[in-house]
Amino acid sequence: MSLRLFIGGMRGSQPATGAAFDEFGGDTTSLLLIGSQGERLVLDAGTGMRAVAGQLARADPGEVTVLFSHYHLDHLAGLTMNPLFYKPQWSFKFVGPTFADGGVRSAATGLLAHPYWPISWRQMTARLDFNEFPAAGIRVGGLQVQGCPVPHPGGCLAYRIDDDGCGAAVVFATDIEWRKRTAADETAFMTMCSAPKPADMLVIDAHFAEAEKEAFAGWGHSCREDDLAVAEAAGIRRVLLGHHAPGADDKALRAAEEQVNRLSRGAMLARAGQWLTICD
Ligand SMILES: [Zn+2]
Ligand SMILES: [Zn+2]
Repeated sequence: MSLRLFIGGMRGSQPATGAAFDEFGGDTTSLLLIGSQGERLVLDAGTGMRAVAGQLARADPGEVTVLFSHYHLDHLAGLTMNPLFYKPQWSFKFVGPTFADGGVRSAATGLLAHPYWPISWRQMTARLDFNEFPAAGIRVGGLQVQGCPVPHPGGCLAYRIDDDGCGAAVVFATDIEWRKRTAADETAFMTMCSAPKPADMLVIDAHFAEAEKEAFAGWGHSCREDDLAVAEAAGIRRVLLGHHAPGADDKALRAAEEQVNRLSRGAMLARAGQWLTICD
């Protein structure tokens, strides 16, 4: 009975490559949550999806739910990198919000087609289907998923996932600009984080440091210090900070993590390739 999270990648905006990015990883956001009954939920499809597919391939083929926060390219580009889409034993249920400029079907099928990719999604032999994330949330086996709109250019949903099996919950809030929140945004997000009980882990956008946030107002991202304040106000002890700036190398992120740990012992920066246990 465990709820576990694999970090395929949590780089923000663009991938980063080179030896200076080895420790935290250069692939963009894609995570794999394995529920306590073996449910498989992929969170976003950035280039880290290649590593997520590698983990999925270690278990029996079957159904996977791929949940999208939004469709910016750093959360979508990994759809071109999943070899399991070419295996008929696999079934991928894509679920995501609909915004003014489209939803999960138009975003995913638009990318998996000419001129962006040589093989159409229609030629992929896995079963792929597309579903709008409903206001009432979704259930994936024993995982209950609810969504909450958060401030980000073009729109974005944060999600809370509760695992019936072990009673733990995780909030996934990539791409959120906390300083742009309205009072209603704040109430909705804090309620999701803290009710009916505080989530066990908050995964959140930490693209900037406090000193940078004025200069990047309107870019759609948050700073680490604000994230820790949100977690504390919500009563969440473990915080996984991600959406690392593409130029932030390992040295910069290690320094950021030291600073963060002086403020909160339960906070860490996401490292690609890592498995974290949320409950066991
Ligand atoms: Zn992003
Ligand atoms: Zn975005």
